Amino acid sequence: MVENHTWKDPSRYINRLFVEEPCLELDYTQEILARANLPWTLVPERQKPNDLGDNFVENLTMGKRQLYLCNNRGLFFKPCPGTREYQCCDYQVVNTGTNCPIDCVYCILQAYLNTPWLTFHVNTDQLFHELSESLSANPQQFFRIGTGEFTDSLAIDRLTCLSRPLVEFIALRDNAVLELKTKSAVIDNLQGLHHNGKTIIAWSLNAAPIMARYELRSATLAERLDAAQKCAEWGYRLAFHFDPIIDYPGWQSGYAETIDRLFEKIPASAIAWISLGALRYIPSLKEIGIMRFPGAKIYYQEFITGLDGKARYFRFNRVRLYQHIFALLQKKASAGTCIYFCMESDEIWREVMGYTPGDRGGLSKMLDRTVR
Ligand code: SF4
Repeated sequence: MVENHTWKDPSRYINRLFVEEPCLELDYTQEILARANLPWTLVPERQKPNDLGDNFVENLTMGKRQLYLCNNRGLFFKPCPGTREYQCCDYQVVNTGTNCPIDCVYCILQAYLNTPWLTFHVNTDQLFHELSESLSANPQQFFRIGTGEFTDSLAIDRLTCLSRPLVEFIALRDNAVLELKTKSAVIDNLQGLHHNGKTIIAWSLNAAPIMARYELRSATLAERLDAAQKCAEWGYRLAFHFDPIIDYPGWQSGYAETIDRLFEKIPASAIAWISLGALRYIPSLKEIGIMRFPGAKIYYQEFITGLDGKARYFRFNRVRLYQHIFALLQKKASAGTCIYFCMESDEIWREVMGYTPGDRGGLSKMLDRTVR
């Protein structure tokens, strides 16, 4: 077992803050500055904090130590940019900020973003206003909402404490659930909240050697599972995402060990859903990943280009990975847990699970039924 790193709270990597000028007077900004107790610099409105973005890739490791508190001038609340080509789950995304202090070799944000520092949007009044309007205007629609699309949901929560008002806001809504997805073990803010069973705390899981080698400054498997166990004790429902599943020598026993440890620790009945997704990436990520992590081997394999333009393992290979992991999960998971693929075709669903989402009303409905 390889577990040689401990970063339960990755926000400890941050060593400097920047504040966009109009945000300085906000109570929320002041609270974050006080909690961080780090040096900070004022930045004129709409300006960048420094020129690290000129060499984005080279400066990403350093940029992840810097947190920029600023206003979001766009929308906070949007549908997840899934693809039409594969079965997607109709997720809604709250854009609380971008980037994260964890550093995953395969992180898609390395190719999506062009600023290396972390941003956090402090104009959260606007966030809650938008959420409130959208949920009230569409009472017939059921919303599964996540904050983990452009960042990790909890990695800097010690500083922002945003989880608390979010959980309590969603607790009072009939037509929504919130999923907070993380690779940290930052859960202190979740204790003692009135969550009303409407927030799902989710962890990305992988084989332990992959977590240790390719997820820098993330919590170990033991730390993630300890945190999940506590959240289950506090009455939260849980979710786990095996994504990205990596084909490496020994993957069979690596994933089997993670699944064994998961179900030794966590009551199966507490798990709302488990997703599976094999490694996939947009072409520009390969070059960036190899440049930043020259020893990483994950890009040196055979891939095909999928219908969405992303590189993926050959279908035969994906099916082999999925069949093994799905069989292990099926033996231990509760009948009420929805096990699903993130971004896979009907053919793969049928070959591995024996049915397609369409046979059960669609993936979105399958997930909704699990939590409603
Ligand atoms: S935890 Fe998520 S957002 Fe952070 S580096 Fe890893 S994949 Fe990217």
